[in-house]
Amino acid sequence: MASPKSFAIRTFGCQMNEHDSERLAGIMVADGLVRANSDDEADVIIFNTCTIRENADLKLYSALGQLKALKEQRPEVQIAVGGCMAQKDRGEILQRAGWVDVVFGTHNLASAPALLRRARTEGPIVEILDAPDPRASRDMAPALYAVRELDFAAWITIQTGCDNSCAFCIVPSVRGAEISRPFDDLVAEATMLAQSGVSEITVLGQNVNSYGRDITKRGPLFAQLLRALGDIDGVERIRFTSPHPKDLRPETIAAMNETPAVCNQLHLPLQSGANRVLRAMRRGYTVERYLERLSDARAAIEDLAVTTDIIVGFPGETDDEFDETLGVVAAAQFDSAYTFIFSPRPGTRAATMIDHFVDDDVIKARFERLKAVLDRSALLKHEARVGKCEEVLVEGPSRRNAAMLSGRTRQGKLIHFPVTTVPLRAGALAMVDVVHGAPYHLLGELSSLVRPPRHKVRIPLLLS
Ligand code: SF4
Repeated sequence: MASPKSFAIRTFGCQMNEHDSERLAGIMVADGLVRANSDDEADVIIFNTCTIRENADLKLYSALGQLKALKEQRPEVQIAVGGCMAQKDRGEILQRAGWVDVVFGTHNLASAPALLRRARTEGPIVEILDAPDPRASRDMAPALYAVRELDFAAWITIQTGCDNSCAFCIVPSVRGAEISRPFDDLVAEATMLAQSGVSEITVLGQNVNSYGRDITKRGPLFAQLLRALGDIDGVERIRFTSPHPKDLRPETIAAMNETPAVCNQLHLPLQSGANRVLRAMRRGYTVERYLERLSDARAAIEDLAVTTDIIVGFPGETDDEFDETLGVVAAAQFDSAYTFIFSPRPGTRAATMIDHFVDDDVIKARFERLKAVLDRSALLKHEARVGKCEEVLVEGPSRRNAAMLSGRTRQGKLIHFPVTTVPLRAGALAMVDVVHGAPYHLLGELSSLVRPPRHKVRIPLLLS
């Protein structure tokens, strides 16, 4: 069989998965392949999967089903499935989609090219590790060889796994216990990224606040990490996701406030506004505690944008409890929220609460009511920005209107503004006057250019 020349990656799921896909793309490029223009042209098609909700599973099997005919027409095309769902379903993927060549997990991303090579002679391979291989440093590190969508913005994963046991969440059983990457490695990696032209770093972890708990008792290391990243020359913006409300320490809030590079944006997942539901979810905080932390953060950090996650229809959630959530959401005035319909995941405590599952119609109605409250608060927040002049990191032409540019404010808000005679390329920093607020974006007009894009420097691949 001829060696493959091109690859395509389809990603499902969260930012951590998107970052894994960037790293996977870097690994494939280092192995001599190029990114295909489309899946139809690719010699290797890789699915980087998610399993946080049931429909992510369904989406994968449906996508694999659509590739069966392609595989029959072009048997030389290789199909690989990696990521969280592969970690969970393992051999079952081959049983349900026998045309898949390789199944790999969350701990052996870097082995993908070798597994694909072996599968060409040995036939289908399933290789899942239950923990990271300490010899495979590339699987934990680094963002340096990732193929990124934006040259000037990079994700850095600072930890994998989670030590919590939220009743609805499959992550701990799929991704394993928390493992923090060494502090000095992260600072070195961010320094190299900054030297290569990256000005915005987003720190990723399942529970970033507990970063370093497995390294040292001299905490809190996350606050120290924010300060250390903020000291790096060239790092102008730092974002992070997600902190767990129960672990949001005063030291982190202080570090956010005192580190100019850390953006005034906080994602703080609420999940429910009813204390009984929070207890059943095993979240480890009460509504009062959550609101206290939120108010501490808002008091300390000027002009803080706050986003959240909410689950609708957790088993046993009553109408009154849902109304409590609506009340908390209205009072908290979030800038935006990710809302989810409860999805039972195998092996989780919530999946066993089947006698208390909430009716689908009731959930849908609650979801719409919640969305209306959130949209209203998002709109109010955006309308309140009108008249302000925001610092915007330009991402490039708007996807919907070539006459507009798009970028993000320090609060993380998407803003579109007309192209002007001032040449602005992706990575440039500009001041933009906000002229209109919509629920999901802002509109503005260029006020001035702060700086052009920073010079992009190619850094050597650190593959070992
Ligand atoms: S903190 Fe809870 S929701 Fe988040 S990954 Fe861990 S178990 Fe899942």
